Amino acid sequence: MSSRFSCGSLRASDAGSVAILNGWVNRRRDHGGLIFVDLRDRDGVTQIVFDPQHPSFKDAEHLRHEDVLRVTGTVRARPAGTENPQLPTGQVEVGIESLEILNRSQVPPFQINVDGDVDENLRLEYRYLDLRRPRMQRNLRVRHKVVKAMRDFFDGREFIEIETPMLIKSTPEGARDYLVPSRLYAGSFYALPQSPQLLKQISMIAGFGRYMQIARCMRDEDQRADRQPEFTQLDVELSFTNQDEVLETMESCIRHVWKSVLDIDLAPFPRITHEEAMRRYGIDKPDLRFGLELAHVADAFAGTEFVVFKSVIETGGAIVALRYPAGGALSRRDFDALTEEAKQLGAKGMVWIALGADGVKSSAAKFLSDAQIEALRTATGSETGDAILVFADAREAALGVAGKMRNAVGEKCGLRDPKAFAFCWVLDFPYLEVDPETGKAFPAHHPFTSPGEGQWKYLLEDPLRMRAQHYDMVLNGYELGSGSIRIHKPEEQRAIFEMLGMTAEQIDERFGFFVRALEYGAPPHGGMALGVDRIVMLACGEENIREVIAFPKNQAARDLMMDAPTPVPEQLLRDLYLRSTAPEQPTGR
Ligand code: ASP
Repeated sequence: MSSRFSCGSLRASDAGSVAILNGWVNRRRDHGGLIFVDLRDRDGVTQIVFDPQHPSFKDAEHLRHEDVLRVTGTVRARPAGTENPQLPTGQVEVGIESLEILNRSQVPPFQINVDGDVDENLRLEYRYLDLRRPRMQRNLRVRHKVVKAMRDFFDGREFIEIETPMLIKSTPEGARDYLVPSRLYAGSFYALPQSPQLLKQISMIAGFGRYMQIARCMRDEDQRADRQPEFTQLDVELSFTNQDEVLETMESCIRHVWKSVLDIDLAPFPRITHEEAMRRYGIDKPDLRFGLELAHVADAFAGTEFVVFKSVIETGGAIVALRYPAGGALSRRDFDALTEEAKQLGAKGMVWIALGADGVKSSAAKFLSDAQIEALRTATGSETGDAILVFADAREAALGVAGKMRNAVGEKCGLRDPKAFAFCWVLDFPYLEVDPETGKAFPAHHPFTSPGEGQWKYLLEDPLRMRAQHYDMVLNGYELGSGSIRIHKPEEQRAIFEMLGMTAEQIDERFGFFVRALEYGAPPHGGMALGVDRIVMLACGEENIREVIAFPKNQAARDLMMDAPTPVPEQLLRDLYLRSTAPEQPTGR
């Protein structure tokens, strides 16, 4: 009797049984008359042994990497001394009885059986080969488990998953829309959803009470390591709720995911306000795997003659200091390189102070009194052997640079343990942010967010002061997602649109359907969305979301396997009432 096994399943206790295995040739070795083939499937690798006496030996001589085989053979213990303790199946081998070559493979453009450094574009072009590698197989299984754990969690709390459409009217999430031209309505376009935001809110108006969806979102924005033109969100909305309930729900979901997928018990997530995050860490997504809090030290320099600090103090700016553990031993050249790095991150300059065992050195030695150095040492919690980096600028600029340098120092000092998970909540965001280039204010989240309690009064007189009921979940310095309590009164929604400079006609044209829905008894509601790709990336210990997406676009937003986007035949454009004005040469490659 033979039975079908997977290539990862055979153990010493299976010796004597006859096994059928299907898989790919991972490796072939010719050894002292015997041929060894490692057969691989999604589960692992098993060693098949071909004896020269066996009729299939001849075929085995011509097997190549990635040929597809069905093998029947007897499981036996490997001869003493040849076991492979690295492999779960390393105690056994399969002596060939019959070999069926199901398909041949071309020579792959890169090695699949080693985790080598392969050019990413080549990996993406041959994604089916890349995905055969154990690491990618593992990542996508983790992804499946994460998503299943999310669905199980919400199902247990009586949420229902509602699918929302892909072809919709634009929903603003701060990015450019992907558009789909309509063939039936000349000159008109659908937008692909930047998120299901308005539809999930309308589901609350429709009385579903608890909605979730593993939702695809599409945003046409500049690419970064943790961004893709399309990505997946865990999208959630609740009725008759408040901020605490949303935070508890989402935190419990993540705790459930970490327990069921990684068997890790997470501690309760600390909560800090946006204001506090900026003050202590210089960033709204602090990496809490390490301390190194920023110290505000302008007071220590009152009356200083050091022009840089003096002018910053006079103009109400900030002087921010950061401890660099064990940085006292760095050389002048190291500090020059650090200063250059800080400049790249937007600093006008950087003052460094090395608290060496053999005395204090500094780039601003002649301007610093002993008392000021002592004040810096106390404020940053530095000790002899450490260094202190100081940034002086307008408050936001100084904090921004110091925050980025804090992450850089954490990295250099090995404080960003890839196995640690430091979650936190950041609360009470400002309602508006100002675009540094255009000077225009726009919602830090989206315009459906409700201002915080007691904040409406700032709407007209000082909107930049207004705080929102907007919260972010942060992990290891990554924003995992945002959410808010929503506006549920139509007149309040209109007031926010008007504050953003929209006329009544514009409101009607873009959001008329939504404001109308709010007019028919919209319940109070709120929710959140978390980036599934980022969550899986961090759970897998990867540094790039493309490692956890089966078929991602490359960094230039191209699908290299299918070769998309590509021009289409003229006739198709004509059917859509479109004419291309693109230059002859394709751009963006
Ligand atoms: N729609 C929001 C986003 O995609 C999340 C939310 O407010 O629920 O960021």
